[in-house]
Amino acid sequence: MQPFNKATKSSVSKVIIIGGGIGGLTLACACLDAGIQVELYEKRELSAMLSGPGGIFIQTNAIRVCKLLRSGKIYQRFYQQGGKILKGAFFSKKGIPLYISSPQIIGEEDLGICLSRPLLQQILYEALDTGIVRTGIAFEKFEETEHNVKVYFKDGSTTTGDVLVGADGLYSQVRACLNGEERLEEPIYSGMCCWRGFFNGSSIPLDKQYSWLEFWGRGNRFGYFDVGAGQFSFYAFNNSKQGSNDDSVGGSLQALQSIFSDYSEPVPTIIKVLKNESIYRDDIFDRQPLATSWGRGRVTLIGDAAHPVQPNLGQGGCMAIEDAFELVKLLSSEVSQKQEELLLRQFESSRSQRVTRVFTTSRQVGQLGQTDSIIGCLLRDSIYKLTPTWLANLQFRWLFDYYPSWEN
Ligand SMILES: Cc1cc2nc3c(=O)[nH]c(=O)nc-3n(C[C@H](O)[C@H](O)[C@H](O)COP(=O)(O)OP(=O)(O)OC[C@H]3O[C@@H](n4cnc5c(N)ncnc54)[C@H](O)[C@@H]3O)c2cc1C
Repeated sequence: MQPFNKATKSSVSKVIIIGGGIGGLTLACACLDAGIQVELYEKRELSAMLSGPGGIFIQTNAIRVCKLLRSGKIYQRFYQQGGKILKGAFFSKKGIPLYISSPQIIGEEDLGICLSRPLLQQILYEALDTGIVRTGIAFEKFEETEHNVKVYFKDGSTTTGDVLVGADGLYSQVRACLNGEERLEEPIYSGMCCWRGFFNGSSIPLDKQYSWLEFWGRGNRFGYFDVGAGQFSFYAFNNSKQGSNDDSVGGSLQALQSIFSDYSEPVPTIIKVLKNESIYRDDIFDRQPLATSWGRGRVTLIGDAAHPVQPNLGQGGCMAIEDAFELVKLLSSEVSQKQEELLLRQFESSRSQRVTRVFTTSRQVGQLGQTDSIIGCLLRDSIYKLTPTWLANLQFRWLFDYYPSWEN
């Protein structure tokens, strides 16, 4: 693979990134490839930054970005260490296939890669040069001057750059500062919580023809997927009150056992091998999409800081990866200093339609998956069963129509 070597002609020589999640780390990789100096600040310590619950789908659209970065090193490690997204399906909780997905819908061998979150973070982090990522440093506020932006951290230190990018997630402090607020307003609760974790696939009779499966019940769903090296990640959604927990039933394992006891195999067997202490539970949120511009001056946002979505399509992180690439591509174009701010607005408007569509489709899939009335579930399952696969594919096909390139 040919390394990209774009000696930037842009007047943007230094980018400051806040947040070392998927978006921030990918952005730093893209900046290096484009010859732009970059500093990334992450509030967590390194070990915490390289952790995270459960696994994640990095789908073909985002994989195409990864293939272009760091001379293909990220892409190669994904395929060496992750699990390929092959044939998968939505089943009813009784084990009846409702929708079957396969890489054939886009004429590829796979639909991307699934990885454990710690491994994903590690691969992105290790693709960067030493010293780029500074951990244990929390962003506090920024101030713009005529030619740059000054960033203040909670420990009293400061830095300056040409552009500041908030990649600091759902509760973005950079976004709060853009809004002139001390803290960002609360996100929108989806009505469901999610449990996540891992299990070893070797002791469970999984149907080998599928690399992922999701079972739909009444007000709850259970899914699992191959993350490579014999490991699988599971997730389970359940309609529940915001802020509730599993204490009253004796822990998450007991909650899963009781909610999913009447699901078809392999769900009960998977739950049987889980360990209470390694199950992670949290509430699921999103935020209404912003208009076509979400930054100001020399400051912009990417990923969940700009457009958090419900995790029903497995595309939130993929959008952060796409954002990172598209932003750097624009920043590395030849412009005068005065036009830098325009580039940031151009980036935001170029992304808004796609991320809004992901937001809307994700909510729709969530509503279907979490339907809790008997009639609603019967209708949902019958419609999915009767819909020809080619028609059902249209709901998802457009997600993969993204072909990043450094060329214009
Ligand atoms: C259950 C679940 C399943 C999901 N599954 C998928 C999937 O399969 N595929 C997919 O693509 N997406 C998935 N997502 C969505 C995905 O996790 C997010 O969209 C993605 O993590 C967003 O990346 P980000 O870099 O924008 O933000 P984050 O990953 O949230 O990273 C933000 C970083 O900023 C840091 N930070 C925050 N505040 C500060 C501060 N003040 N100073 C410095 N640093 C700060 C944080 O510590 C964090 O490291 C899922 C989400 C959930 C909840």
